[in-house]
Amino acid sequence: MNIHKILKTYFGYEEFKKGQEKLIRGSLNGKDVLGVMPTGGGKSLCYQLPAILLEGITIVISPLISLMKDQVDSLNEMGISGTYINSTLNGEELSERMQGIRGGKYKIIYVAPERLNTYLFRDLIKDIKVSMVAIDEAHCISQWGHDFRPSYLEIPKFIKSIENRPVVSAYTATATKEVIVEIKELIGLKDPLESIIGFDRPNLFYKVAKVSDKFSYLIDYLKNNYQGESGIIYCATRKTVEALAKKLNQKGIPTVDYHGGMTAEIRQKNQDDFIFGKVNIIVATNAFGMGIDKPDVRFVIHYNMPKNMEAYYQEAGRAGRDGEPSDCILLYSPADIVKQKFLIQSSTFSPRRETMLYENLQYLVDYCNTNDCLRNSILKYFGEEIEEDNCNNCGNCLSESEMVDITIEAQKILSCIYRVQERYGTTMVIQVLRGSRSKRILELGLDKVSTYGIMKEYSESVLKEIVMTLVSMDYIYITADKYPVLKLTQNSSSVLKGEVKVYHKKDLLVTKSSGRKKVVSSDYIEANYDKSLFEELRELRYRLSQEKGLAPFMIFHDSSLKEMAVYFPQDRESFLNIKGVGLKKYESYGEQFIKIIKDYSTENRIDLAGFKRENLVEKPAREYDMDRYQLTYDCYLEGLSLKEIASRRDYTINTIIRHLERCEKNGQTVNWSRFIDDPSKEKKILAAIDEVGLEKLKPIKEMLPEEISYEDIRIVIAKNRLK
Ligand code: ADP
Ligand code: MG
Ligand code: ZN
Repeated sequence: MNIHKILKTYFGYEEFKKGQEKLIRGSLNGKDVLGVMPTGGGKSLCYQLPAILLEGITIVISPLISLMKDQVDSLNEMGISGTYINSTLNGEELSERMQGIRGGKYKIIYVAPERLNTYLFRDLIKDIKVSMVAIDEAHCISQWGHDFRPSYLEIPKFIKSIENRPVVSAYTATATKEVIVEIKELIGLKDPLESIIGFDRPNLFYKVAKVSDKFSYLIDYLKNNYQGESGIIYCATRKTVEALAKKLNQKGIPTVDYHGGMTAEIRQKNQDDFIFGKVNIIVATNAFGMGIDKPDVRFVIHYNMPKNMEAYYQEAGRAGRDGEPSDCILLYSPADIVKQKFLIQSSTFSPRRETMLYENLQYLVDYCNTNDCLRNSILKYFGEEIEEDNCNNCGNCLSESEMVDITIEAQKILSCIYRVQERYGTTMVIQVLRGSRSKRILELGLDKVSTYGIMKEYSESVLKEIVMTLVSMDYIYITADKYPVLKLTQNSSSVLKGEVKVYHKKDLLVTKSSGRKKVVSSDYIEANYDKSLFEELRELRYRLSQEKGLAPFMIFHDSSLKEMAVYFPQDRESFLNIKGVGLKKYESYGEQFIKIIKDYSTENRIDLAGFKRENLVEKPAREYDMDRYQLTYDCYLEGLSLKEIASRRDYTINTIIRHLERCEKNGQTVNWSRFIDDPSKEKKILAAIDEVGLEKLKPIKEMLPEEISYEDIRIVIAKNRLK
């Protein structure tokens, strides 16, 4: 299997995240690698995937014992055999696992660094083939880093002790130069292939809220955002943590608390309740979070200001590891600054250190007070290059109150309306401004007018927004015709001559097309998923997770459930098409989830044969899909009927039609007539389509005699290339 197939089959993903492929190929080609990727960047997959392909086993060194079980559970859920060795195991469990390892039962073994050089472990390693040693959180080896672990210094010795040196891969999210240099040196990476990816986390929305009443702000936020989803609220002190958790519970918002002053058992229980989705909200001091890999934390709210930017970024960064939109909100009050300053004063630091602490604090204070882009302010702190002034996804860039001058934009639009002689509607005017090459524009010669293409960098929606604003301000008049046309008004000239200025809310204008895309590809899913179906799927997931003693996200991520609630998969193939669904997960859970989807569709009279499934066609073809289409096409060439192809390929006829359509798009010839048994059917179908349109299949079907099937309709649509 190639790496793309493994990615799909085990992990359920169609494509790699930035940097992953390079590092994976590096490891597979026997090179040491160093991956520096932000939290949520997908580091684990970089060593888990090659581990499947490499001979023998991969040893993963990771500092957090509490996490190993989760990681291994997740692996096993995906059908990858793994285990872990750390101090939580009793003697019996340990020897059982050792035996399993000797017997070749596992591909991946997680080990705590303290274990590496024990006699027992060394002895074990002698007898087995270790192909790779992967070091997660590699910055723990550096004293410059914020969480130095002396036991990490044992790693190089361990690697040396292995007879045939395995490839070594190291991963971290800490990107400072000193740390990177130390990691390479201390671990002894040999001429490593490096992939260093920026700090930015585009899916995180940053905001500083200056509010007088934090508690009511919080309640308001919780009521209106991400209801039923997970979030962390950080407070400065244990006392605040306890008081706030209590108040939230009293308000009917189930919350657990977490701080260093509790017994270990209670802490663990509260943490588990949060991670396993029994309670959605945890209020905590900064003692919480180290090694929390929960991917679906939708918001991190700082009820108090932390001590510096590094701490803030680390804590806030626990939101949105899964890449879905998530909020990082800092509640600002001057009193918090006073408190932090007091903490520095009252400790006995050297003057140099004290100055540094003040400076670090000041950076965060500046962050709270700036009117500029918050994301850029963070990136600057970490020495990153800034790409755009405006990130379009932070509280400042999307500030509601700020008005910006759009006089120049208004002038361009008005003069364009004038240049096209006030003869066209909004769409055409915008196309001219954006320099569209559409057939209509070219036919009409509108590419010759002087305003053609003068607003290329603006998105269509922003231009529409400005046009509508100008209409509302009476600088443009829209005729009330069947085809409405934009005309100038008697006020337009004052704008064109620069006698008056035009202002507009900033947040509505920042989506210049050159700007950062707000959130990856999940935008479409986010906007279109069926909320009630999503809830039902979530319920099922929760039930299953409780039965199996797993965290819900180990079964499916929210993003997978949301895709299900867009595409309504109802068979094996379309279910496997869902992001995050690999083979094993389909086998374990597919049937149950598909049942919910089918029942839901029946109850709500959603026509599954209709448009929902069409959405799947929209996904671009990838390498993995290509083989699939080719196999179908091979059957076609053999002269099989659709039914025969479907049964040979173990797909539905609809899917086969879809495959063949795709083949045709790719330039292969498909003679659809072969599948039409009675030419009079085609005529009837075309007539029906003429009548009711193509949007949904059901109305077409309903117009036709019983013996004409959905498949017939689809074939005719394909044959006549109606889509
Ligand atoms: P890191 O250790 O870098 O913080 P993780 O390895 O925990 O990040 O991965 C973060 C999330 O990204 C996980 O939920 C993981 O399933 C997901 N992920 C990893 N690789 C991909 C991919 N290629 N496509 C989509 N999601 C991915
Ligand atoms: Mg990680
Ligand atoms: Zn911004």
